[in-house]
Amino acid sequence: MKLFLNFLRQQVPKSGSEVPFYYQQSIRINDQMLAIYLFLSFLLISWATRRFFWLPILFQGLLLLKLYFQKRISVRLSLLAYTLLVFAWCWWYVVSFGWSQGGQHILTVLILLVFFCLYEPPLMKLAYFLAIFAMRMYLFYYGTSHEALIALDSFSCFLMQMVNTSAMFLILASCCIVYSSNLQETERQLLLRNQQLKVQAETDPLTKLINRRGFLSLMNQYVQQDPQAMYCVAIADIDFFKRINDTYGHNCGDFTLQKLGTLFRERAAERYFVSRWGGEEFCFFFPNVNIDEAGQIVTDLLLEIRRTELEYEGKRFSITLTAGVEENDYRSPLPELIESADRKLYQGKQHGRNQIVV
Ligand code: GH3
Ligand code: MG
Ligand code: MG
Repeated sequence: MKLFLNFLRQQVPKSGSEVPFYYQQSIRINDQMLAIYLFLSFLLISWATRRFFWLPILFQGLLLLKLYFQKRISVRLSLLAYTLLVFAWCWWYVVSFGWSQGGQHILTVLILLVFFCLYEPPLMKLAYFLAIFAMRMYLFYYGTSHEALIALDSFSCFLMQMVNTSAMFLILASCCIVYSSNLQETERQLLLRNQQLKVQAETDPLTKLINRRGFLSLMNQYVQQDPQAMYCVAIADIDFFKRINDTYGHNCGDFTLQKLGTLFRERAAERYFVSRWGGEEFCFFFPNVNIDEAGQIVTDLLLEIRRTELEYEGKRFSITLTAGVEENDYRSPLPELIESADRKLYQGKQHGRNQIVV
């Protein structure tokens, strides 16, 4: 019941002009197999009745006509043409040879086509399904209450039943192969795309470091795993970064941020995680590290940066950073610890910059 309700609530793509992905492939296979089936039926019927029957050839002609116009007509119209063709064929078959030769089997394929190949609202699909069901019931009523126009010997009946049943099974199986392999491929691509989007959404394009959004979820994951674990957070901010932009240009500012990003990443060596927290601020997370060790790691980083001479388009300069470090006090939630590290950073800025406050 839940499955049925979910089906009825299904959303369909807005644009009606799109040709469903599965439709093209499955309808092509359907058309090809149906053409072979019609030709086999033509041979079989002609042989069984010792008469030339032009109707299967006419149906083949109509099928080719539909194939010819396939690209120029809408999916809905194409499916309608296909349905009418199949229904007319089944009707002629049942009227001519009776119910028990299985000419009606081929109708079953339409159910698969309509449920998998149409971007139509669920109610429309349901209505279509009921129409196919009604057609089959009508054929059953007609086939079982009327004498067949052409009587056949039992061997011919056996052969016809075999051809009809095999055709239905083969066409259904090919449709299923198309759907299942396409579905798996679509699912694989969707998963891959989702992973790519997640990485994109959590990466800073300039420094290639993880951004604030990604970093918050990374830190939260760690903290939730073991709230009693030891860890530290640190925030570092470039001193007078605005001057670099003003003096050497915005591109030079970008270059500086990139260089810092690379350096922080290279020195991480599984001791810490680093992110671009905002503008010219970087946030660090030290799992299983106490404040003394974290302070030492940040001090080493800041010293190395201070000593490093940067060069951009012939201009040489160096930068300094100020940082605040905070340790898990086992009481405060993560955002409060980050705020505390930020307050320490502010203290460092007020006391002359180029320093670390632990
Ligand atoms: P303080 O020592 O107090 O931190 O001074 P500051 O100049 O570093 O700080 P301020 O907040 O006054 O200026 C930060 C500057 O960082 C301003 C902004 O234009 C620059 N900035 C932020 N993001 C980027 C970026 O992605 N690229 C570049 N080039 N500059 C950026
Ligand atoms: Mg700054
Ligand atoms: Mg800042």
